[in-house]
Amino acid sequence: MPAYDFTAPRLFVAAALAEGVILPLDRAQANYLLNVLRKGPDDPVLLFNGRDGEWRAHLVQTGRKDADLHVAARTRPQTPAADLHYLFAPLKSARLDYLAQKAVEMGAGTIRPVITRFTQGERVNMNRLRANAVEAAEQCGILAIPDCPEPERLPRVLDGLAPERLLVFCDEDAPVRDPVRALREAADPQAPPSLAVLVGPEGGFSGEERALIRDRPNTLALSLGPRILRADTAAVAVLALVQAVLGDAR
Ligand code: SAH
Repeated sequence: MPAYDFTAPRLFVAAALAEGVILPLDRAQANYLLNVLRKGPDDPVLLFNGRDGEWRAHLVQTGRKDADLHVAARTRPQTPAADLHYLFAPLKSARLDYLAQKAVEMGAGTIRPVITRFTQGERVNMNRLRANAVEAAEQCGILAIPDCPEPERLPRVLDGLAPERLLVFCDEDAPVRDPVRALREAADPQAPPSLAVLVGPEGGFSGEERALIRDRPNTLALSLGPRILRADTAAVAVLALVQAVLGDAR
């Protein structure tokens, strides 16, 4: 794993990044760098836009509250977006913030809200979800910004999954047995398939939803142990297992 420079702040920007580019900062960004982090002209700032890799830039103050970033050199090449889909029933906002950030940190490349029968609050603040995904990427050295598609109902989400994508369905009713072995039996760790994980709402899945999910071919109903986990806990648990056995943490 490349040694990241975690002392330098990382900022997501929309602009194209190349040597010599000068990026005027908005007031909030200038205040954050100048006054909150108290960065000066010799302090590097790392920039990424999800397309051009990571670049080192230097802060040039242009006024009492204004500053530009002068892009100097590329520090890391662009990495491809992660292929792992994280499908989840939306939770109330604070827990949704946590869940979105952890899914990104754990390597999800698509974060899709799934509306189920017992979902609390079907309206999902997608701007907030995307902002959390960007914040997690900024903090964790992730270069590709996850895709956050609009919420869809469970049947459409299942229909939209490519048949070859293994769906790991977090099912507290599945037999409690060795989840690592269950994942190894569901796919070849030497040639892992594309992956999706699905976690339900606080109220769990309805009986007919459970049947619908289990009827999908190439789906593994996976127990995460004998205790009922909160949905945001289940998110981290299943992503850690899947990444360790079939994903990028092998
Ligand atoms: N019906 C319970 C479970 C909901 S927990 C309740 O009302 O509290 C929310 C989601 O987390 C579940 O839908 C499931 O996807 C996942 N989950 C929780 N505990 C789990 C376990 N022990 N094994 C597998 N998945 C679990």
